[in-house]
Amino acid sequence: MRILLVEDEVSLRKLVSLNLSMEGYEVETAENGQVALAKLDEAYYDLMILDLMLPKVSGLDVLTTLRLTNAKLPVIITSAKDSSSDRIQGLKEGADDYLVKPFEIEELVIRIQRLLERTQNQVTDPILESYTFGPNHINFETFVGETAQGKVELKQKELLILKFLIAKKNQVVSRQDILRKVWGYDVYPSTRTIDNFISSLRKYFEEDIKNPKYILSVRGIGYKFVNNSD
Ligand code: CA
Repeated sequence: MRILLVEDEVSLRKLVSLNLSMEGYEVETAENGQVALAKLDEAYYDLMILDLMLPKVSGLDVLTTLRLTNAKLPVIITSAKDSSSDRIQGLKEGADDYLVKPFEIEELVIRIQRLLERTQNQVTDPILESYTFGPNHINFETFVGETAQGKVELKQKELLILKFLIAKKNQVVSRQDILRKVWGYDVYPSTRTIDNFISSLRKYFEEDIKNPKYILSVRGIGYKFVNNSD
């Protein structure tokens, strides 16, 4: 497993790098945002640890640029205690997890393991590079959905929620399940957020959003995906 560690503090960079190497990870380091972007362009990584306060190009800008071309690379952001707004912004820009500095190396290692498990599981889900239901065809690689109304570009969370529902086809999926699967362990948006995502998905893919055929509501619990032509 290859990890890109982006950290401008020399001592912390060395400490984390050494510890992760001892855990068996192959670690590349970048001391600023510019170097990080160059390294991301040049090589494949399984995960990135990204400090937010960086010289030259900020961590947030690194993340935004990364997500334009790579929606999948798992990212853990690290930030100082007093910069919670940056952290929230980081999560909005598509970070998967965060750690507040100073952190215990052991905690970082656990979070890396969990995040890699989660993302590896997603990759090895038996389905799904693409999927067709009714007039809709979803390409999970390109995030493009073809629908009765034309093409839509799905946001990362929309895609992940849809993918999860389809993977659990004909089973009731609770909002908590969706939160855990799509948002992860520590970031808990309100369950209302899920409902909003579901209503966007219905707008794209249902003929009649009041009487959905594919993404059904299960009262008091959550949702169920059905596709009678499968
Ligand atoms: Ca820093």
